[in-house]
Amino acid sequence: MTRVDVDGVPVSPDHFINNERVSSVDTFEDRSPLDWSWKLADVSRGGPRDADLAVTAAEQAFPQWAALSHEQRSEYLHRLADLIDAHVTQIAHVETRDMAMLEESLRRRVISRGARNFRAYAELAAHYQPRRWDSNGTSNVVLRQPAGPTVVITPWNAPFMLSTWKCAPALAAGNTVVLKPAEWSPLSCSLLMDLVLEAGFPPGVFNLVQGLGEEVGSALVNDPRVRRISFTGSPETGRLIGEAAARNLVPFTAELGGKGPFLVFADADLEAAAEKAAVMYDDAGQVCLAGTRLLVDRQVAEEFTRHFRRATDRHVLGDSRDPATTLSPLIHPEHLERVSGFVERARSRGDRIVFGGRTRRPDGLWYEPTLIEPASNDSEVVQREIFGPVLTLQTFDGEEEAVALANSTAYGLSAVVYTSSRTRAERVGARLRAGTIWVNCFLVRDLSAPFGGIGISGIGREGGDYALDFYSDLTTLQIKEGTTHG
Ligand code: NAD
Repeated sequence: MTRVDVDGVPVSPDHFINNERVSSVDTFEDRSPLDWSWKLADVSRGGPRDADLAVTAAEQAFPQWAALSHEQRSEYLHRLADLIDAHVTQIAHVETRDMAMLEESLRRRVISRGARNFRAYAELAAHYQPRRWDSNGTSNVVLRQPAGPTVVITPWNAPFMLSTWKCAPALAAGNTVVLKPAEWSPLSCSLLMDLVLEAGFPPGVFNLVQGLGEEVGSALVNDPRVRRISFTGSPETGRLIGEAAARNLVPFTAELGGKGPFLVFADADLEAAAEKAAVMYDDAGQVCLAGTRLLVDRQVAEEFTRHFRRATDRHVLGDSRDPATTLSPLIHPEHLERVSGFVERARSRGDRIVFGGRTRRPDGLWYEPTLIEPASNDSEVVQREIFGPVLTLQTFDGEEEAVALANSTAYGLSAVVYTSSRTRAERVGARLRAGTIWVNCFLVRDLSAPFGGIGISGIGREGGDYALDFYSDLTTLQIKEGTTHG
């Protein structure tokens, strides 16, 4: 079996179908954002044939996997979670070299969240009880039936964690899965498949295909045998996948881009707010949930900005393998060009660059933490997701204006609010258009809470029972009163 050596960790560059590695004749190059001259692998470039093989495998494995009890499936998920925990170092090692996320943070937090995803759904599914109630002389019983082969398509940021977030509930619900990770960071999900094999999953239950979105991704989402599609990525691709799902009448969820507001009220702990705002530059701003529009009460704007600048100055751009680094390079030269394009257009259109606005290293993909005061709320940097270390700063007078500005984009994924008043937090929170709102914190997650976006930030909800419902066909049994047991 072919393996490439990623700085000491062997990784398969091939698909994983029916518990076997399958290669394509065509390949695509996968390079490291840490050093663009470093080619990590020639990865199998899947096409319609590979998509067909993978969906066929998932279709054939489905009846037996679906017939297992929740407890039996949960055992597989627990075994996989344990194996992820045992391999955190290797997975973090590969993901850092593949997408440049900080190795320390992957090792300490992000990869083990993958294990938590499997454990959480193993528990939820194992304790599943049908919902029951009586009405109109009948008892109603709502059953969750496994839906069928499921396609999961994920983006290049945090590929391992985001893929497990979707695959875990799909498998726990009794579906078989074909995962397609993004072509800019395909390798950590390949390691996951080694663990699927080691955990003893039956062939065809959990498959992986590599390749480009418009080729193998498109073939997968257009296959009429697929019964669920779960997508995380950009709104543009979300629309294409929605069209494919509509043609085959397949339920799909889409977790899409964000342009979250970060609201700072005058009664907030300004230092704490500024420290957290500087965290929005982490992972080079390549985080869909980041609060990238700083909206600050005019009365405290000057003081907040002073604290914010101090917190931002502490960021250290460097090699993601170095624990001292806090700001990694961007994923790809094309992405660096996209991010700097936003800033250059802002500059030429009269927005004020407060700090940053340059690539830091001529020989790499680093971009400086950047703050922009837009000329108006219509500025492109306010209205469109940049997905880089670029924040905007605007001021407001009073709660009305704060809420109006916060809700003034087409996105609605997340929001961050800093205030010392719980009453205000609940009042403002109830008026914000966002799937997740953090008050005086950020990225704290209970995996049983619903997660998703409003507007162009997404369709559907995952998380807890919401995800299990999505990955299931809900069936209502109505049994006439007096029907005896036995
Ligand atoms: P993208 O939409 O370009 O690609 C995402 C995935 O879709 C990739 O695997 C790609 O190969 C595939 N794809 C592309 N075209 C396809 C097609 N026609 N058919 C099927 N699959 C296709 O997104 P990206 O650039 O990889 O990721 C960045 C985006 O993801 C940002 O907008 C970010 O906000 C978003 N994101 C959202 C969340 C969330 O939870 N809401 C999380 C992470 C990232």
